[in-house]
Amino acid sequence: MRKMPDLGRPPEIPDSARASALALVEAGRLHRYAEAGGDGGVVAELEREFARLAGRRYAVAVNSCGSALFLALKAAGVRPGDPVLLNAFTLGPVPGALDHIGARPVLVEITEDLVIDLEDMRTKARASGARVLMLSHMRGHLCDLEALAELCCAEGITLIEDCAHTLGASWNGRQAGTFGQSGCFSFQSGKHVNAGEGGVLVTDDADVAAQAILHSGSYMLYGQNGTVPPEDVMARWRRRCGNYSMRMGPLVASLALPQLAMLPERVADWNASHDRIAARLSAVPGFALPKRPEAEAYAQSSLQFRLTGRSLREMRAYVDTCRAAGVWVKWFGSEIPEGYSSNPAQWPGVEAIDAPRACALQAALCDIRLPLGLSPEDCDAVADVLIACAEIEEHRHAEA
Ligand SMILES: *Cc1c(COP(=O)(O)O)cnc(C)c1O
Repeated sequence: MRKMPDLGRPPEIPDSARASALALVEAGRLHRYAEAGGDGGVVAELEREFARLAGRRYAVAVNSCGSALFLALKAAGVRPGDPVLLNAFTLGPVPGALDHIGARPVLVEITEDLVIDLEDMRTKARASGARVLMLSHMRGHLCDLEALAELCCAEGITLIEDCAHTLGASWNGRQAGTFGQSGCFSFQSGKHVNAGEGGVLVTDDADVAAQAILHSGSYMLYGQNGTVPPEDVMARWRRRCGNYSMRMGPLVASLALPQLAMLPERVADWNASHDRIAARLSAVPGFALPKRPEAEAYAQSSLQFRLTGRSLREMRAYVDTCRAAGVWVKWFGSEIPEGYSSNPAQWPGVEAIDAPRACALQAALCDIRLPLGLSPEDCDAVADVLIACAEIEEHRHAEA
């Protein structure tokens, strides 16, 4: 059998990033702020470049996307005990950010296309009184962001976007991360930019940026940040924001910065692999793939599909058979939390899992990562395994 590609391979660190990281290590200058004055170095440079690329006024570099989400909630005025709307398809760090701030998650349904259900959102917003929506563009799937922004406006809801999977994605030409008050991105190795860990919060709101900068732990050296609100805004917040030590350091920024310019090329690579495998799977009865609206430009570094009409036991058997054949399939339906997959029943602070459709969809939902550089033959080999294993399990079930 053909050797399977390593689907867990992270994006490569370019030579220029290695050189600047090594220079920092040699100089020992590994903290972003310089007490005796400085220009903010590579972290400030990254913030300016990221804000420019994201099309927003401010970018605040922090130690993870989870920290960025927490700071976005804090800056949106969320207090312990407050209800916050959350789509019931996301990854652990997102309900984790709500748990961190002490908010009460109010789960919102998703559709078969794995995006938030706007009708259910309206209902849950009115019933719970929540004033904030934490929207995770989970696995790169965008809802109708124009309709969502309108709905948020009409209902008086502040939108925070989790863009961990949508760096480089847009809706009708407008980038994900520009629809909400804040947009939060990740440089964790499994995302579009690989710096090990790291996150960025973007916003146009000077008060949000000021709070995020101060809370992230800028001491009173925030003048060295890359994008700083006017001094009168900083003065409003400088005595009111605790230092949570969530800064990004220069080592991470030096690894991330050169990768930003590589994004268009990477996105084309990911999407080519995604589209090739998705086309194969879509043609097979029993495989259900989310529809991608024309307004959506995605950056799909992973692929999702549902197997229809199978029990949890059959799903488990399918996943195990694929893994034995060399394709690491993730499954969102596991009753025991496993790896990076998660479902609402496993999130902290969820009192009522009032999202039965989201749970049913995730019970049948599988996922593979797409590393960069897959050849068309690699893609076909992966698709062959995913399809053949479904047939094997179907026959096994029919015989039993
Ligand atoms: C990875 C991820 C995050 C959090 O990113 P970190 O940088 O690891 O904190 C948030 N949301 C989603 C959907 C993710 O996949």
